Amino acid sequence: MNQVRAKILFISLVFGAWIGGCQMPEAMDKGSRADMDNDSDPPPILTHDGIDSILGQLDTLTLSELPDEYRRIANLDHVNPSHYRHRSFYVVRPSDRMRLIVGHFRIKDFLPDSSAADVHGDEQNPNFSWPKDSEETYLFIDTKLLHRLLDLILELRKQDYDHQAMTIYYGYRPPAHNHNIQGAKRSQHLYGKALDMWAGDVNRDGQANMDDKMIILNILEKKIFRGTGGIGRYLDDPRAIHFDTRRKKGRWNK
Ligand SMILES: [Zn+2]
Repeated sequence: MNQVRAKILFISLVFGAWIGGCQMPEAMDKGSRADMDNDSDPPPILTHDGIDSILGQLDTLTLSELPDEYRRIANLDHVNPSHYRHRSFYVVRPSDRMRLIVGHFRIKDFLPDSSAADVHGDEQNPNFSWPKDSEETYLFIDTKLLHRLLDLILELRKQDYDHQAMTIYYGYRPPAHNHNIQGAKRSQHLYGKALDMWAGDVNRDGQANMDDKMIILNILEKKIFRGTGGIGRYLDDPRAIHFDTRRKKGRWNK
């Protein structure tokens, strides 16, 4: 009996040690899985360095290095090269599209093929037709524009408004897309220097209206651009806002 007990004790000790040994990596595995869960809902990007760091992780191509097919479809073959000198297109792979880049905004929000206008299926504003399932697409965007958007987000946060109550309608528009939607011939969107946004319920009063839009316009004017850049106020529309990083001041109300 004693021998049997000793054997059982020995076996359970060995087995216990083996189980314990197995549990260690499992516990660590759980830890790393928890990290992955956090990764799927990462914190917003709230610093200029954070934006620069994401951009720095993307490959870049100059205008002449873009694939011929993309240049043809985007109508980039006969553009004035001076606008593209010393600047690059960011290569956006499918796995990059959902990455956060400014606040709660994702890389896809600045691309012409997934703008809110497209999502809402506006037939007057046909989508830029570079296939979405392509291996990669190209984003031409001004870092300064992304920084100004962050400044707006930070100021909204500071004043206790809902900084997530904004939707990007149009960001970068390649010439073919700009033509499709009858954008201005020299639109700043062509050069990735402009954003069209919709104001949502910024002041959290249960409705998205002119009050919310005026909060954003006032911040843009008084805190962000202060007499520089471009601001489209569109005062006949309760939600639409345009801003851009042009050199000379531009303001318009319609
Ligand atoms: Zn615009």
